[in-house]
Amino acid sequence: MTAVLPYLSQTIVYCIYLLNLAPGSLPPPKTFFVLFEHRACKLKYLGLCWSGMKTKTYKYRLYPTRKQTRALEHTLEVCRVLYNSALLDRKNSYEKTGKGLGYCKQASILKANKGKVEVLHAVHSQVLQNVLKRVDRSFQNFFRRVKEGKGKVGYPRFKSEGRYDSLTYPQEPGFQITPQGLRLSKIGTLKLKLHRTIEGRVKTCTVRRDLNRWYACFSVEYEPVKKAVPAKEVGIDMGLKSFAVLSDGTTVANPKYLRKSEKRLKRKQRELSRKKKGSTNRRKSRVVVARLHRKVREQRSDFHHKVSRKLVNTCGFIAVEDLNIKGMVKNHRLAKSISDAGWGQFLNYLAYKAEEAGCRVEKVPPHYTSVICSVCGERVPKTLSDRVHDCPFCGVSLDRDHNAAINILNRAGTARINAWGETALQGFSPNQEASPVRAR
Ligand SMILES: [Zn+2]
Repeated sequence: MTAVLPYLSQTIVYCIYLLNLAPGSLPPPKTFFVLFEHRACKLKYLGLCWSGMKTKTYKYRLYPTRKQTRALEHTLEVCRVLYNSALLDRKNSYEKTGKGLGYCKQASILKANKGKVEVLHAVHSQVLQNVLKRVDRSFQNFFRRVKEGKGKVGYPRFKSEGRYDSLTYPQEPGFQITPQGLRLSKIGTLKLKLHRTIEGRVKTCTVRRDLNRWYACFSVEYEPVKKAVPAKEVGIDMGLKSFAVLSDGTTVANPKYLRKSEKRLKRKQRELSRKKKGSTNRRKSRVVVARLHRKVREQRSDFHHKVSRKLVNTCGFIAVEDLNIKGMVKNHRLAKSISDAGWGQFLNYLAYKAEEAGCRVEKVPPHYTSVICSVCGERVPKTLSDRVHDCPFCGVSLDRDHNAAINILNRAGTARINAWGETALQGFSPNQEASPVRAR
């Protein structure tokens, strides 16, 4: 960015012409024609800019034939080998010359050597380029982490067999959605279950393997539609006994999916550990365990989607605790329960759904939310087993988590501006403290 700035300061933007195109058209709506002129070199050029676009990903199930599955698996294997060799090249180059290789250099090496390597012909060229981009990204992330200096920093790793599970077609016509299914270059037309319509312009397609299942993930650019945001505001207390308690008193039960499957999982894992290393039976057993894990993962994800969707549809402002989940998992007695609840995933789902709906999510400091009385503000010490908040100062009696949820809402910032940049509540004065009576 800093390299671009002096150039920009020398540039005059001459004219802006707004094109308002229909949604889904090429290029996207709200497109500007911009004429730039560089002061020093008198260079003029016409550019296209667009604004207000967001991206999201749609995931669909793919049903490849056996032949197509073999082709996909072969492609993944070629990509994996290319990934590892690109990683090795960077490592060698650094050790020999003290300088790493960049993406552009590696792409030109790939282009020059493609003719000599037969297997590379079976894979679409842009898919191969994307592999090099992934190597580049993992190095960028590595350097960033080194710079941040947070604890141990892992060097980008080689991918072992079966550990490379996706390939990306960065643009059409490498892939195309046709009435017959998904057409992939060098693979063929795969059966695709389009269970929901895609809204927006499809940019990239990533084919993903999940054990024996295949998925297509489309990254889509779309223009958010402004909708009315509900005025209701809510605070959420996340817990282990109940998954969440809202400041209006609603309780969302904790389904504890992992705990329910734990017995079966333990038995299968024991079976796996008894199998001889490298045997076919061990491989089969590993698939059984992985499928069980996937089942738990999918149940949990489904639950999180449903809860976050309901919250975003009914509330315009949501206050949550800013939990240090990584730190909490270090407590061994609670680690499994916390991981099973999956608060991190839930908060991610909530954040992106809220952004799309124009609702605002605010994280507040979590200290003493269960101790402080939500009515009078006095501290009422409790142990973990005290489930009811009985205040000796004002006499209020509330469920412990309900009291905490009200505190969380009270603690949230007083200027309630939603994601559209509008005040979420009519007649709301910024200095007014959210009162527990209103929140309830
Ligand atoms: Zn009180």
